[in-house]
Amino acid sequence: MGTLYADIIINISHEALDRVFQYRVPFSLCDQIRVGQSVRVPFGAGNREQRGYVVRLSDRADYDPKKIKEILSIEEDSVDAESRMIQLAYWIRENYGSTMIQALKTVLPVQDKMKQKEKKTVKLLLSMEHAPAQLDEYFGKHYVAKARLLAALMDHQELTWESVIKNLKIPRTTVEGMEKDGIIRVQREQFYRNPNPKGLQIEEPLPLNEDQERLIREFKEDYALGERKTYLLHGVTGSGKTEVYLAAIEEAVRMGKQAIVLIPEIALTYQTVCRFTKRFGERVSILNSRLSKGEKYDQWLRAKNGEIDIIIGPRSALFVPFPNLGLIIIDEEHEGSYKSEQTPKYHAREVALQKAEMEDAAVILGSATPSLESYQKALDGEYRLWTLKQRAKEAVLPDVYIEDLREELKQGNRSMFSRRLYGLIEDRLQKKEQIMLFLNRRGYAGFVSCRSCGTVMQCPHCDVSLTYHRDGKLRCHYCGYEEIMPEACPECKSPFIGTFGLGTQKVEAAIKREFPEARVLRMDMDTTKRKHSHEKILKSFSDGEADILVGTQMIVKGHDFADVTLVGILAADLSLHANDFRAAERTFQLLTQAAGRAGRGEKAGEVVIQTYSPEHYCIVTAAGQDYEEFYQQEIAYRTMLCYPPVWQMLTVLLAGPDEEVCRQTAQRLGRVIKNSGIRVIGPGEASLSKVNDIYRQVLYVKEKDYQQLVRVKERLELWIDRQELPKDLHITFDFNPMSS
Ligand code: ADP
Ligand code: ZN
Ligand code: ZN
Repeated sequence: MGTLYADIIINISHEALDRVFQYRVPFSLCDQIRVGQSVRVPFGAGNREQRGYVVRLSDRADYDPKKIKEILSIEEDSVDAESRMIQLAYWIRENYGSTMIQALKTVLPVQDKMKQKEKKTVKLLLSMEHAPAQLDEYFGKHYVAKARLLAALMDHQELTWESVIKNLKIPRTTVEGMEKDGIIRVQREQFYRNPNPKGLQIEEPLPLNEDQERLIREFKEDYALGERKTYLLHGVTGSGKTEVYLAAIEEAVRMGKQAIVLIPEIALTYQTVCRFTKRFGERVSILNSRLSKGEKYDQWLRAKNGEIDIIIGPRSALFVPFPNLGLIIIDEEHEGSYKSEQTPKYHAREVALQKAEMEDAAVILGSATPSLESYQKALDGEYRLWTLKQRAKEAVLPDVYIEDLREELKQGNRSMFSRRLYGLIEDRLQKKEQIMLFLNRRGYAGFVSCRSCGTVMQCPHCDVSLTYHRDGKLRCHYCGYEEIMPEACPECKSPFIGTFGLGTQKVEAAIKREFPEARVLRMDMDTTKRKHSHEKILKSFSDGEADILVGTQMIVKGHDFADVTLVGILAADLSLHANDFRAAERTFQLLTQAAGRAGRGEKAGEVVIQTYSPEHYCIVTAAGQDYEEFYQQEIAYRTMLCYPPVWQMLTVLLAGPDEEVCRQTAQRLGRVIKNSGIRVIGPGEASLSKVNDIYRQVLYVKEKDYQQLVRVKERLELWIDRQELPKDLHITFDFNPMSS
């Protein structure tokens, strides 16, 4: 056998090391080495030991064989990357811009093997005939602990390890000694850590209604023909999308395939998992960041070994190594959290489509408010468009009112509740029905400013205003900086410095003032910091322990409260004027979802949208639950301003502690792009121009063709590679960013 060589990606994320290094495989490892394995190698001039992944094996040296170093060992404790994962990592690296090791780590959400949990049982080995004599012998020799254990085992035959150690207080060494003497046996059983809800009964599926049935029939026909399509399921909230997912999964599983279900927020996992577990029992599992390392590894292993059919989780669940993937479902596909905020800034939807193509799986994207990206593709015929127009149960869509806050002010109403909302709240409190009030903000109030000179209190390290909290402190939500609220303006010494704007705490205070008899619960970033506090608040509200739930966007997603018959959106425009090309889309989504919370049960619901821009198409179409109309208006706007999804956009972000270096490098990068004949906007300061004393500059490149942008990125990477740029200057790429 000839010599074997391995191409290795070193586990150091640095642009200069972002290539493969060739090593010789020592003879002793030739039988074991495989692509994807993690190995130890000598690296660099000092031959420091480093970890790396094998990405290719060959029998030819690409360099002078004498200069090629040898692999030291195979890492037994690391999870292997399979070759399809490596392929996917290459695709991610090319399409989003990152080092290969960053891409590899992305597709390996579980990197270290963990020891399997063991269940230990202590059993009596000695026959009952001989045991009494043995017990006498122990007593005779004053072996108290041994006697105690033997006596207990004579009564019970077997005991759990824990009870032997903790209850009987037998030293470990005593147990081992008795095992050696053949008196007892310690039985070890390996088992998986299982984070799933326990004790749920399997329930029969609901009979699908006609609309759902039609979609599933189409799915089954495609599936039987071996056609793995992408479907966009556009269905109003409560239209029975989840039932469609369940039926489609059932079909895939029946064909011997597995399914990945992505959901946007960890907070929704429990509810969703219960529903899936009631359908598929033990064959379902979850993978999310709240699991312990051991739990994660076990779910990963169960999937790999084909012991489960369905995995549910946020975007990282996409990388579970099912042997025979047949279906990927992305619920709430429009959600921003599907886009990674770290390099590589990949979009889980796009990666899912790529993975589905590589592994021949179908994809179902579901939403009440599809992303413009997906809806455009559906209209173009690239995806099959599925529509569910009605709620599955009897419940009808709520009545929606738009209230003009400018008009309220003219009429002398200075409260944060319009007259209509005020009246409806009174009405519901009287009827003992529940209310949700929604505000797209957190904190007691927004920023703090001086009414005399207009100075706004800013974080000294970041380009953002500080937020006032009720403990009397001003905090920066970006870096955590805090200071005491000043008594006078630091600029002009005026005492008229104070808070403006609207926050959930302020809403809560206003309710207590205006409706003192109402019981209020508040849910926002501040009240949900602790583990499970989220679930606790929701449970308490659903148990009827409060009349009103006040909250930020957290309260609008997914939860089904049968007794909520009134939803108030206090200031619909708050998110509309954000400096962001997706602001209208996001506002439309929020309003639609919030409105969808009303009237989920038997009783009809009403929704009040309070706004300063009642004529804006986003507000009007949201109130009318008219997605198609919103889509037409919004796509016209994107077309006019050359924004995604009509145009493709690449953001190049430069961040570094030296403002001048940052700006100059940005200018040079801009010239590189321009010289290749491509349009570029900027450089300019990023909308957050400073965070934690790091300055940020951006460039925007727009092109019709995505691949063209990928080539721009590659050209820039090449250019950056050749420069001697300071090490603390970081350049990152973001394709079709979630905000501008
Ligand atoms: P979505 O995922 O679109 O919000 P769900 O699948 O959660 O909708 O369904 C909303 C409600 O309607 C749930 O309570 C569900 O049990 C019920 N439902 C869905 N499909 C049916 C059906 N075919 N028959 C009766 N009830 C249904
Ligand atoms: Zn001032
Ligand atoms: Zn800060």
